[in-house]
Amino acid sequence: MLKNVKFETSVFDKKNILKTNLPEVVLVGKSNVGKSSFINSLANQKKLAYVGQTPGKTRCLNYYNVNNEFFIVDLPGYGFSKMSQKEKLDVNSLIDTYIMKSPNIVHIFFLVDIRHKPTSDDILMFDWLNSKNIPYTIIANKADKIAKTKATEYTDIIAKHFNVENNIIPFSSETKINLEEIEKIIKDHI
Ligand code: GDP
Repeated sequence: MLKNVKFETSVFDKKNILKTNLPEVVLVGKSNVGKSSFINSLANQKKLAYVGQTPGKTRCLNYYNVNNEFFIVDLPGYGFSKMSQKEKLDVNSLIDTYIMKSPNIVHIFFLVDIRHKPTSDDILMFDWLNSKNIPYTIIANKADKIAKTKATEYTDIIAKHFNVENNIIPFSSETKINLEEIEKIIKDHI
């Protein structure tokens, strides 16, 4: 569990992207994949990040301060079908500018749904991640929705779609499976 996690700020506009002097750990993933729940699990708090709001509503960057040691930055969820083309472009541009203007990013967690093969937006995100020089980990979320014994079978399918080795980590905000491993990845990068 990460100690002393506090909401810092939301950034809606590129010109307000923070210039921090601390490492930044970033979360990306499609809308509704469970990023808010992931933050709450890491922080061991129930309502730090607002879970289950209308998908796509969070079109901003949300910064969380972890014990004044580093930030967790939650990027807007993508792939929300009700977003207009302009909103999608705005979100993509905010994400791109954030990455460009944030030299302190040390790691990215890329959340996908363990039950489904990656969406076309997931593939775009994956390609985009690979075009950056930033280490990342793929998290297969909502692992409680499948039998525990099947986790590797499911992550193998995801790995195959991304054409990577299966270093994918199953996670669930319900069971907290692999939470310690994820915390270790964070600690190894800050
Ligand atoms: P976000 O849009 O990526 O921030 O996703 P949220 O954290 O708001 O979660 C979206 C929905 O998925 C909510 O109804 C959550 O309760 C649910 N959810 C999130 N994580 C998990 C998980 O690990 N297991 C299950 N079963 N449901 C989850």
